Amino acid sequence: MTLNVMNCTRCGKLCMRTPAELCPACVRELDEHCERCVKYIKENSGTTLQELSEATEIPVKQIIRFIREGRISLVRTPNLHYPCESCGEPIQEQTLCDSCRQRMAKEIQASIKGDDALVQEQTKEDHITFQIRDRLQGRRR
Ligand SMILES: [Zn+2]
Ligand SMILES: [Zn+2]
Repeated sequence: MTLNVMNCTRCGKLCMRTPAELCPACVRELDEHCERCVKYIKENSGTTLQELSEATEIPVKQIIRFIREGRISLVRTPNLHYPCESCGEPIQEQTLCDSCRQRMAKEIQASIKGDDALVQEQTKEDHITFQIRDRLQGRRR
């Protein structure tokens, strides 16, 4: 086998390697899903994540991915939130809420200063985050 083929990370089909690690059929499908979300948001600015998911029949997880990738803007949808990856607080941008971001920033600063206890604490959290991500990827297949 050469390095030019891969299994699509979405449907598992063998295909030519692409930067997004998705086969052309999935890329097209995701584009179409994204357009459906954008269109619904435009017509229903008061929608929530749940409502959007039900109306478009696109899984919540997929919609959150679109938002994080910047493909869906939440500028005009004050009711559309998704959970902070760390504490679950509703947020509208990035992957963490303000307080978690501040906490992370503090921990990073502390680790630069060489505070061993905090470094260890952070490594543990990173490990947990990876486990969650692995699980999410497993579920997507
Ligand atoms: Zn695919
Ligand atoms: Zn948080």
